[in-house]
Amino acid sequence: MLQIEHVAKSFSGFMAITNANLTVPKGQVVAVIGPNGAGKSTLFNLITGHLHPDKGLITFKGEEIGELSPHDICLKGIARSFQLINIFPRLTTFENVQVAVLARNRKTNKLFTPVRKLLIEETDSVLEKLGLIPYRERLCSSLSYGDQKVLELAIALGSQPEILLLDEPTAGMSPEETRTIVKLIKNLSQNEGLSILLTEHDMELVFDVAQRLMVLHQGQTIAEGSPNEVRRDKAVQNAYLGETG
Ligand code: ADP
Ligand code: MG
Repeated sequence: MLQIEHVAKSFSGFMAITNANLTVPKGQVVAVIGPNGAGKSTLFNLITGHLHPDKGLITFKGEEIGELSPHDICLKGIARSFQLINIFPRLTTFENVQVAVLARNRKTNKLFTPVRKLLIEETDSVLEKLGLIPYRERLCSSLSYGDQKVLELAIALGSQPEILLLDEPTAGMSPEETRTIVKLIKNLSQNEGLSILLTEHDMELVFDVAQRLMVLHQGQTIAEGSPNEVRRDKAVQNAYLGETG
């Protein structure tokens, strides 16, 4: 689905990414792990077109996307949630998701169903998948932090992506909120066939949800494979897992 080969990116001389390599197969949950400053968010910005690589290839379903704009990449089927909450606080839960659904539907032409009705059904189906129907009419500013993070997921799903990028989806969450997010991530990949790429600090969680891991260390991919392969990798043990116990 998504392939990154020998990608590099520097910021005015500082090499944030020196050599990143990553494969995201269809329908799998893949985690990028690595300490703070390893370049995980930069990598996500490269995939979503917010940054462009200096070197290397980023291909989505066989097509090179490294030079495309965020808007075009979103229309191709790559969506993301940000590390910081990114919603419209004065809109309701329903309205927030509808904005995303609307943006995508501008490109589609369904001739025989009234557009308004379609958008309502589509928006509600996203809310339903994420358990947000009870909060449908609530102003987003009144939702708990955990529910706002779930809403962010819903907004990302509103564009009907084939791959979803989640940058630290459980950051700042209580254990219970974290369990909810983990359940949703598993559900979206297993039942909806969505490919999910995420970054995460909590190793236990990563080994629980991901079928595939990539370890980024100082901007470089030092290991990639199944959780067990990565766990046994000597370079990983030295560079990362050792430090966190
Ligand atoms: P991570 O998400 O793994 O914590 P980041 O991708 O945010 O890491 O950052 C990787 C490195 O690149 C850090 O040293 C960070 O300070 C630097 N960096 C990230 N974005 C920029 C930018 N826009 N300009 C300059 N340096 C940046
Ligand atoms: Mg980051």
